[in-house]
Amino acid sequence: MKDTLKKWLGLDKQSDYVKNHFYRTNMRASIYMSIVVIVLEAWMIERMTRTIIQDKLYDSFWILTEKYYSNYFLLISAGVLMLLFAARALRGKSKAKGFVAFVIVTAALVFAFEIDRLIKYDPKVNTVYDLQNYLILLFSSLLLITFSVIFLKDKEDKKWQSLTVMYLFSAVCINFGIIISVNSYATGGQMLTFLTMELFVVCLLVWRPWLGFAVLTASYLIFYTRISTLIDLSTVAKFTGVIDFSAVKPGLGDGIKINGFTMWLSTLMFCIANYNKTLTQAEKDEHLEKMNEHLSRISIMDELTGIHNMVYFRNEAEKISNYVTTDKENMVYLFFDIENFKSYNEKYGFSEGNELLRKIAHMIDDTFKGSLVSRFSDDHFVVLTRVDGSEDRVNELAIKVRGLQNDVHMELKCGAYRPTGSEFEPSLACDRARFACNTIKKRYGTNYRLYNKALEDKFHLKQYIVNNVDHAIENGYIRVFYQPVVSTKDGSVIGLEALARWQDPNYGLLPPGMFIEILEEYRQIHKLDLCMVEQVCKDYRDAYDAKQDFVPISLNFSRLDFELCDIVTELERLTGDYGVPKEYIDVEVTESALTDTQDLLNKALERLRGLGYKVWLDDFGSGYSSLNVLKDYRFDVLKIDMKFLTGFSDNEKTRPILENIVGLTKQLGMVSLTEGVETREQFEFLRSIGCDRAQGYLFSRPVPKDELIKKFIGGVLIINENFRNALLEAKD
Ligand code: C2E
Ligand code: MG
Ligand code: MG
Repeated sequence: MKDTLKKWLGLDKQSDYVKNHFYRTNMRASIYMSIVVIVLEAWMIERMTRTIIQDKLYDSFWILTEKYYSNYFLLISAGVLMLLFAARALRGKSKAKGFVAFVIVTAALVFAFEIDRLIKYDPKVNTVYDLQNYLILLFSSLLLITFSVIFLKDKEDKKWQSLTVMYLFSAVCINFGIIISVNSYATGGQMLTFLTMELFVVCLLVWRPWLGFAVLTASYLIFYTRISTLIDLSTVAKFTGVIDFSAVKPGLGDGIKINGFTMWLSTLMFCIANYNKTLTQAEKDEHLEKMNEHLSRISIMDELTGIHNMVYFRNEAEKISNYVTTDKENMVYLFFDIENFKSYNEKYGFSEGNELLRKIAHMIDDTFKGSLVSRFSDDHFVVLTRVDGSEDRVNELAIKVRGLQNDVHMELKCGAYRPTGSEFEPSLACDRARFACNTIKKRYGTNYRLYNKALEDKFHLKQYIVNNVDHAIENGYIRVFYQPVVSTKDGSVIGLEALARWQDPNYGLLPPGMFIEILEEYRQIHKLDLCMVEQVCKDYRDAYDAKQDFVPISLNFSRLDFELCDIVTELERLTGDYGVPKEYIDVEVTESALTDTQDLLNKALERLRGLGYKVWLDDFGSGYSSLNVLKDYRFDVLKIDMKFLTGFSDNEKTRPILENIVGLTKQLGMVSLTEGVETREQFEFLRSIGCDRAQGYLFSRPVPKDELIKKFIGGVLIINENFRNALLEAKD
């Protein structure tokens, strides 16, 4: 309630924006006001001059000081000065020396005339009103001169100056209105000047309601008392010099009082309405402006870390590249990746992870102060900075980041790219720096890698792979190599793993290490995996038609296959088309695919099992949360990662670990398979601990189908008895 009243009276605190809005509105109104005054006074001066000439009243130079000449000149000067201040407030122009000179000269003349009149003042001839008038004029001319000097001295707009001039100007206008109307009323003439001036000041300018109330009430009271004094006819005679009192209507009738009051009230209401309208507008504008500011801020800021985002980075980097003064030769793009951040997230949860990201973002921002620093995505950041000392700074940063880790080992990796010539384009440059960064992943202790010629070739290969995957699939460059899986009981082949190879006309035979990750990164992997499924189904069909033996084949599915397409339905379609029984197809999913508990993946795996396919867990033991995966998902076969066999002969811990994993597999009702078996010793050990299956170079490297068939024919590999003649029987 108190606040509403305060607001209504205009006593509340206004924001700078709102204050400024009022200031500019009032300065604009002051321009109109001053123009009206200048035109009006110019007319008055012209009229008076005409009268003087006509009536030949110019025998003395001092005639110029007579009557209202001083008033007119003073008012016109005040108008000019107001105009100057208002114009400067709105446009910032301060050079108007000719006009200021006019104001000063006029004011100085009026000042001199008034001094002269004061010297010649004679109480016998002059009235007390004369004295009052001389003093007002004297004071006004002094004020005009003072503000003219202030105007000349300060080149910039100062609000208090313009506002003071505005208030004084308003006071002069109202005072002028009162004087003229009182005089006119006394002589029976019209008294509209007061009302005109009142409206003029109150309707054009916007007053805070309490101030409007004060100004209006004071001026009405002055007007009222002055007019009331006219009741005393002798005062009227003194004041106006009128002798014939028949023309004078002394006193105020009730009608006039009511009219006066209504006038006061309606002007006051207008004043309040005007204020509220302007205030609402100002607040709306302020709100819009703030929204705009906010929008433009969030469009260039990264919400999570509070540093800039990529929209900002690209724009600014482009600008920098366009400056002629940029020393492009010495600029470097840095791409940062926090290795193992995922594990940190898994272990401590997202909110801790986010907190860490924020810390690291600000560390990078601080280290590269004055350079362009942005969050690229996830745990990736980019920087555009000067090359000197950048590597040292990266290494210092890496040490700081290491200091942040708890028991999850994390490393800051940085790839750097120095653009040459026209290759400053931010997206490409970031891509290259990122590429350099990716090459040092999993290399302990290496934090910085500069993009060079060797990397460039690799980079081009990457581009080539992304751009040519469709072409390669269509033209049969993607080929299936098979690697046998043997039973530890008798060494017979019990299955085959289908492994992809890219036989490229330009680059030769590419192993999956060169394209799987790239295709995953660019979300194209499902195309390759579907192509693999189809080829395997076709090979089954050929074997079936040719009455050859066939063993189940395991296919590697990427985690992304389940997101990028409905891989289960596709698998169903292809096995259906080629008539492949489900027991001949197994699906391998790597452990790392299952780290984020994804509903989607879990459902898909269950669906696969429900349809009759076997699901294998690949690379068990290679990741962080191997045991969790076993807890959360169900698998038919557990493929123990080959890293358990590295250092088999020197590391005595290997054997008990393997033995335990195999035991656990049994307990959970799964088949155990160890990959990467290269020696007979390893194989014998696996057999001794009860591992069901083995896969590795000891039996065969992955080979094309024809070569595999040769190995069977040559007796190097023998088919497990369960699958011998199985298709034949099925056919019968
Ligand atoms: P993986 O599924 O774990 O496949 C086993 C990898 O180990 C194969 O490498 C194989 O050649 C290799 N290997 C087998 N025995 C030995 C051994 O005794 N010693 C050594 N040092 N290595 C051995 P490859 O063919 O290069 O495949 C690498 C990875 O690429 C695969 O690992 C799999 O994750 C992925 N991959 C291969 N083909 C495909 C595919 O068609 N689709 C998908 N999504 N991924 C695939
Ligand atoms: Mg595999
Ligand atoms: Mg594997």
